[in-house]
Amino acid sequence: MFSQSNFIRKQLSYGLIQRGYKKTIEQLAKQIPLKDAKVLVRVDFNVPLSKADGKTITDDTRIKEALPTINFLRNAGAKVLLASHCGRPKGAVNEKMRMAPMAVRLSQLINHPVQTVNDCIGSEVDAAVQKLKSGDVLMLENARFYKEEEKNVPEFAQKMAKNATIYVNDAFGTAHRAHASTEGVCKFVNHKVAGFLMEKELKFLKGAVDAPKRPFAAIVGGAKVSTKIPVIESLISKCNKIFIGGGMIFTFYRAMGLNVGNSMVEQDFIPLAKELMEKAKAKGVKFYLPTDVVIANEFKADAESKTVSVKAIPDGWMGLDIGPESLEYFKNELSDCKTVVWNGPMGVFEFEKFSKGTFGVAHALADVTSKGGITIIGGGDSVAAVNAAKLDSKMSHISTGGGASLEMLEGKELPGVSALDNA
Ligand code: AMP
Repeated sequence: MFSQSNFIRKQLSYGLIQRGYKKTIEQLAKQIPLKDAKVLVRVDFNVPLSKADGKTITDDTRIKEALPTINFLRNAGAKVLLASHCGRPKGAVNEKMRMAPMAVRLSQLINHPVQTVNDCIGSEVDAAVQKLKSGDVLMLENARFYKEEEKNVPEFAQKMAKNATIYVNDAFGTAHRAHASTEGVCKFVNHKVAGFLMEKELKFLKGAVDAPKRPFAAIVGGAKVSTKIPVIESLISKCNKIFIGGGMIFTFYRAMGLNVGNSMVEQDFIPLAKELMEKAKAKGVKFYLPTDVVIANEFKADAESKTVSVKAIPDGWMGLDIGPESLEYFKNELSDCKTVVWNGPMGVFEFEKFSKGTFGVAHALADVTSKGGITIIGGGDSVAAVNAAKLDSKMSHISTGGGASLEMLEGKELPGVSALDNA
C-alpha cells in the first residue's frame, strides 16, 4: 500500500496527475472516526474460478488489489462488509459462483478470519453484522444472485446498505454500470467514498482526460473500428498524436482508396474513418497509421507470412500485424511524449508470428515511463500483452477495468463514480 501511495504522491508533486475529485476513504478518515464504523466496501472479487469445481481460484490478482483498502479499514478499527459479484449467475443462486473461495483466500492474505454468509441481504446478514468486532471482515454472498442487483432496484439497494453508515467503492471495473451495489446503495448511506484502487484509477484516467502533460498521445488498436469510434473521436479533441493499429487500420486504408486484400474491413464505417482523419487534420492532431504490415495467407498461427508496404497488399492476403518499419516510426514519434494511453493490440498478438507490433509498442511505452512520462494501459488485451512481456512494473498505471477505462477516456461520467461524494 505504501509504495503505491508514495508513487502517486511523487507523480502529484511533479504535477503529472490530477488530484482526486472524489472523496477518498483516506480523506474521510481524517474527518470522522472509523473505529467500530460499519463500512460496506464494493470490491471486484470476480476472479477466475476453475471450471471443474467452481472453487479453486486460478488468479487472485483482484483480491490482492483490494488489500490496501481492506487493510486500511481494519487498521482503523472498522467493521468491514465486502460486497462483490462473481460471474454471470443471472439473478439465481449458482453453486459455482459463491464468494466463499474468495473469503478463504482473503483470510490467508490478511491473516485474519473472514466470515461468510449465504446471502447479501436479510436476517442472516443482519445477525452476522451484529457479531462483528472492530477489525473483522464479513464477505457477503454474490450480489448477482439477485436480479435486482443489475436492475438497480432501490429497495434491494436499501437492504444492502442497511447495516452500513459508510460505503466505499473500490471496484473500478464495474463502475460504468449503474447496479445496486455500485450506484444504488449510495442513496442509503451517510458517506460514500473511493477506495485506494478506485482513487488510483481516477487519478490516472481522469488526469489523462482532463489535464494531461503534453505531448499527449493515444494508441488505439484492436479488431474493430466500430467499437473504438467514440474513444478515437473523444481523444482527437484532447491528444496531440493518435496512433492506430490492429484490424481497424484496414478500414482507414480503404477510406484512403488502398487495396487491403482479405484484411478485416468494416465497409459501413469507411465514411466515418475518413471523417475521423479529416477531424484530426482540422484540429492539428497528428494521425499515425502504419506504413508496413505483416500479412498472412490465412488466419492461422502458422500461416505463411511476409512484410509488405500498406500500398502493396496482394489479393488473397490479410494484414495481421503492423510491420517493423511502422514500429520504428511509432517508437520515434512516441519518444517525446509525456502522457500516453494505450487501448487495444496492434495485431493478432495471440499468434506469436503476429505479436511483434504489440510487444514492440509495450516496450516503447516502458521507454516513455523510464524517461519520466506517464503511461496508462487500459483494456483487457493491452493489459494481457504488457503482462506477457513482463513489463507491468514499467508502466505508470495498468487499469483494472477494460470497459470502464474506455468509457472514462471517452469522457463519460461513470455512474459508480458520479454517485460518490465530491472531495
Ligand atoms: P478489441 O477487443 O477490439 O480490442 O480487439 C482485440 C482483438 O483484435 C485481439 O483478439 C486481436 O487478435 C484482434 N486483432 C488485432 N489486429 C487484428 C488484425 N489485423 N486482424 C484481425 N484481428 C486483429
